[in-house]
Amino acid sequence: MKKYVSLLLALTATCLINAQSRSGDPALSEVWTPVPTIIKPGKTASEAPSDAIVIFNGSDLSSFAGEQGKKAEWSIDGGAMTVKPGSGPIFTKQEFGDCQLHIEWRTPSVVKGEGQGRGNSGIFLMGRYELQVLDNYKNVTYSNGQAGSIYKQLIPLVNACRQPGEWQTYDVIFTAPRFSSNGRLESPARITVIHNGVLVQNNSTLLGATEYIGIPEYRVHKSKEPIMLQDHGDLVSFRNIWIREL
Ligand code: MG
Repeated sequence: MKKYVSLLLALTATCLINAQSRSGDPALSEVWTPVPTIIKPGKTASEAPSDAIVIFNGSDLSSFAGEQGKKAEWSIDGGAMTVKPGSGPIFTKQEFGDCQLHIEWRTPSVVKGEGQGRGNSGIFLMGRYELQVLDNYKNVTYSNGQAGSIYKQLIPLVNACRQPGEWQTYDVIFTAPRFSSNGRLESPARITVIHNGVLVQNNSTLLGATEYIGIPEYRVHKSKEPIMLQDHGDLVSFRNIWIREL
């Protein structure tokens, strides 16, 4: 009985406190500054908002360079650019650190190869952290190497691949790693990836730079670096690439 009385007293006290806070001035908890900047969002999720940097709008590769600053040689057709196998990766001329990236990609409709040999490319944030691009529609490979993975590090939450030949989207939120002045890692890189509208990386922590063989590790680098798109020998296309620095 004593237990029920004290429970009743506690409930009554909580109700009184809630009633008191509700009778206070609601303006006391309103914050009016800073005022978020007004931007114009795109008409669709593919279209760049007004404060984005458009890296590829479908017409030219002027925002990209090839290896050692050479001209980017990938082909352009129908508002998309396509890997020119053997010509090498391409790099954004502008360098980026923390960012929101929208990029659309398409693997060839004519299916050739299997595993890692089918529609392979990749988006290397800061030129070293690879978000895998791969045709994983009914195509099995190692889980930490499939589309939506951070290559050989982080398995995607689900396989959200569309069929080969269909356009797919990545929306990425990337936090660059931080290094102290003596080159020690202060905080690792983190990434959130939404693949075709589906969350596949949820603020995941990267283990280091992407390695094909061996364990990933961090090596000190600048706070901004070019984004690299991989030439893995397959005819993968990209379009609607825009980025917002954070
Ligand atoms: Mg790749």
